[in-house]
Amino acid sequence: MMKDVAVVGLGPAGRALASRCATRGLSVLAVDPRPDAVWTPTYGIWADELGDLPSAVVRARAANPELRSFGVHPLERAYLVLDNAALQAALPLDGVELRTARLDDAQVTALRREARVVVDARGARPAGLRTDDPAPMQTAYGIVVPTEAATAALQGAEALLMDWRTDWSEHERPTATPTFLYAIPVGEGRMLLEETCLAAAPGLPVADLRARLRRRLLSRGVAASAVDDPLDREVVRIPMRGRGAAPPSGVLAVGTAGRGGHRITGYSVAHSLRRACALAETLARGDVPADADPLDAAERLREIGLRALLRLSTQGTLELFEGFGRLPAARRRDLLSRDTGAADLARTMWGMFATMPTSAKAELVRATVGRS
Ligand SMILES: Cc1cc2nc3c(=O)[nH]c(=O)nc-3n(C[C@H](O)[C@H](O)[C@H](O)COP(=O)(O)OP(=O)(O)OC[C@H]3O[C@@H](n4cnc5c(N)ncnc54)[C@H](O)[C@@H]3O)c2cc1C
Repeated sequence: MMKDVAVVGLGPAGRALASRCATRGLSVLAVDPRPDAVWTPTYGIWADELGDLPSAVVRARAANPELRSFGVHPLERAYLVLDNAALQAALPLDGVELRTARLDDAQVTALRREARVVVDARGARPAGLRTDDPAPMQTAYGIVVPTEAATAALQGAEALLMDWRTDWSEHERPTATPTFLYAIPVGEGRMLLEETCLAAAPGLPVADLRARLRRRLLSRGVAASAVDDPLDREVVRIPMRGRGAAPPSGVLAVGTAGRGGHRITGYSVAHSLRRACALAETLARGDVPADADPLDAAERLREIGLRALLRLSTQGTLELFEGFGRLPAARRRDLLSRDTGAADLARTMWGMFATMPTSAKAELVRATVGRS
């Protein structure tokens, strides 16, 4: 019997789509090397992106995380850390036929003999991540420590979405690739403190991030014992352009296997969860879109943003995020959401640009339109 849909890969994008399709009565085959594995990354989304998911999927909440650059900017928007096991339970695979396998492109295409629609949700690197990957990459190194041990790092904030201040460096005006501190509660009286390089090509090595995090935290008064002997550790590698290649022929790509990732933030989970509902609806009607996430004008604007991030100096990056911090809350949301349309995104980018000092504007223009 032909299935209605075959989904290859059961990360957030694939699982959400498989679950939403099954709920709408479609017959679904799902393939993954470890279909029952609980996801390990610390996934964060904004509270207003939770959609119809139950509150049980929330592991921790920060009511008003801050952005810091030259100034301090409360973001006035609640941020959630997800409980991955609960999120997977909220996206049940009842009635879905599960197959344990790792498929290459040809095998994904061959599934068209078994299903009317084949969806690639194998993530950005279906053949595995390589340390010498030249693509633009977000990298981060984080430690989990008891909340009281993290207090000194937060310097009065409840949580830090991005703290761009440069105490990761011994120099007053460093010129190396800029990084920021991400500091969020992860539940059970613990905080994740993560040194993050938003985008670099190739990605900033994790060893550098570890050294920067240590320097930053010690300089803020965090105990060396908490830094060197944390409760847990996390390493992040996110290819900023997703797979960066067309999906196998005749196959739809969702999540980071396609264009589901945000090219400026590296986030994809909220978009994948939301997109799965609409895509399942479309498939249940018998329609098949040409592309799950088309290369539209908004996506091209985000690519311009990524180009700028890859080329800006430390000072230029701080100026850019200072401009972001000064935006009204609604405009900040437009920049961070993968679902924002081109007109709103262009207005937001212009809003950031307009408030920047002339020298920073000039650098941003050069970074955006200049040669590689
Ligand atoms: C540590 C970390 C933290 C992150 N934090 C956030 C965050 O806070 N918020 C956010 O929005 N994003 C975050 N991201 C970025 C991004 O959203 C995640 O990478 C997200 O997991 C992408 O979801 P996905 O379903 O597209 O792909 P993946 O999560 O990569 O899932 C791919 C699935 O396909 C399977 N698979 C892989 N290869 C094959 C194959 N050949 N055959 C069959 N199956 C295969 C895998 O087993 C996996 O189950 C984070 C990433 C990392 C690494």
